[in-house]
Amino acid sequence: MSFPQITPPALDEVQKHFVLFDYIEGQRLAPSLPLDAWVSNPSTGERIAPQMATSPENIARALDAAQRLHQSGVWANTPPEQRADILDAAANHLMAMTPMIAAVESVNTGIAFSTTSFVNAIVWLAFKAAAGVLRSGYTLSKVPGPHGEVEILRKPLGVAVAIVPWNSPAALAAHKVANALAAGCPVILKPTEWAPYSCLFLAEGLEAAGLPAGLFQIVHGGAAVGQRLVSDPRVRAVSFTGGLQGGRAVAAACAADFKSLQLELGGNNAMVVLEDADVDKTADGIVAGLTTLNGQWCRALGRLIVHESLQAQVVEAALDKFQSIRAGDALSPETQLGPLANEAHKARIEAAIAALQARGGQVHQSTPTPQSGYFLPPTLITGVRPEDALEEIFGPVATVHPFGTEEEALFLANQTPYGLGGYVYGADEVRALHIARQMNTGGVKVNGVSLLELNVDAPRPAWGLSGFGEEGTLETFDVFCGKSVVGIAGK
Ligand code: NAD
Repeated sequence: MSFPQITPPALDEVQKHFVLFDYIEGQRLAPSLPLDAWVSNPSTGERIAPQMATSPENIARALDAAQRLHQSGVWANTPPEQRADILDAAANHLMAMTPMIAAVESVNTGIAFSTTSFVNAIVWLAFKAAAGVLRSGYTLSKVPGPHGEVEILRKPLGVAVAIVPWNSPAALAAHKVANALAAGCPVILKPTEWAPYSCLFLAEGLEAAGLPAGLFQIVHGGAAVGQRLVSDPRVRAVSFTGGLQGGRAVAAACAADFKSLQLELGGNNAMVVLEDADVDKTADGIVAGLTTLNGQWCRALGRLIVHESLQAQVVEAALDKFQSIRAGDALSPETQLGPLANEAHKARIEAAIAALQARGGQVHQSTPTPQSGYFLPPTLITGVRPEDALEEIFGPVATVHPFGTEEEALFLANQTPYGLGGYVYGADEVRALHIARQMNTGGVKVNGVSLLELNVDAPRPAWGLSGFGEEGTLETFDVFCGKSVVGIAGK
């Protein structure tokens, strides 16, 4: 794990960006409905502002404007190269904003600046990647037909909605918004009510790039606003990242009129540690699995499935490394582990740990954490029955399950209803890969844990309750497109 020393902007500069606005038809308007909770700085517990929602009138206005623009064809009929020019320009503007986007997100979410500054490169890279898809000619392919060529057109489906959670809001939003716009769809973004500020930079970047007003809009609020958007019949494509409960509700709303849907949900990701694994490297993987995004990432380690001969050594090595993790204020460049995202989330995770303890689990922690703020040390829990540890905890907590045979390891790895990420550690890479191939999950990394993809152009699929469809450079673009096959018929 590396921790680049980048100097974050000063807190008072960061705080200037805590001004919430709806972004509707190019206008910045103050959201008018307070919700029953606060946006806080989880490193200190200090309140930043009440959570706010957009008024129903302004949500209706955003939907009307988006639909009008779609019907006018102004963006859908803009040649792909010109759409790409605007997306590239937006990428350049957003690149310059990356340190501030990262700092705003660290203060809002508690994710360490050493991570947000790296993860938020995805914001501008997402726009570059979507422009690249357009420049590659992906919107039109041709196959031979009875009279000349048959065209396969990828056309924008209509108004798109993007909904994101709080663990990495700007990067997740950028990936969805960039692809929707590239595909030719007007898009409405609903950031998370817990950390809404970093997504606002997208408005600045796209406006500076010259995107016509109304093609990108932002509305705010919680589940009710999200439901309102995804239930509107004018919306034809939805990309949602969040938890299972929200995902199910979104899927149900989209089923009514068969909207195109991409769901990126949770995981309870297994790491299988074979008897020939390097214990020190495995412990590094456990640290990365439990501290990346403070353990609140969809591919975080959830179930440590370790050969019975190694369990004690692996747990001890991980605890040894946990001791020297620097937990602290998320904006400090030295911090390796920040707090959990908010007080309610911390209470949920502590309740999940207590429930496992009540079923015989022994809790192992060794990271010193600050007294104030919503900190939780990385936690391993031994002695829990695997069937009591099937659900996602979404924090720096993994249960530990010993195995004897490969069959047992695979049973435990495939036992949860999720299937997002997975890891195998073992010295014999041929054997490790053989096991990885049998794990029913969207992706498995052998001998490494990292946020980085194995290949940026490979798909990021989700199995079971982890989602619906796949993410990826082309896969997300396709969520917003309908195909038309056009050609001259034979006699
Ligand atoms: P959440 O589901 O509570 O909220 C996510 C977003 O959805 C928020 O903007 C929220 O307001 C909105 N929302 C909630 N209920 C909704 C509903 N019924 N209809 C429409 N919108 C609704 O999730 P969270 O607590 O913010 O984030 C944590 C979850 O996100 C975890 O389960 C995690 O695994 C998942 N996640 C998945 C990925 C991935 O790529 N698979 C990435 C990051 C996070």
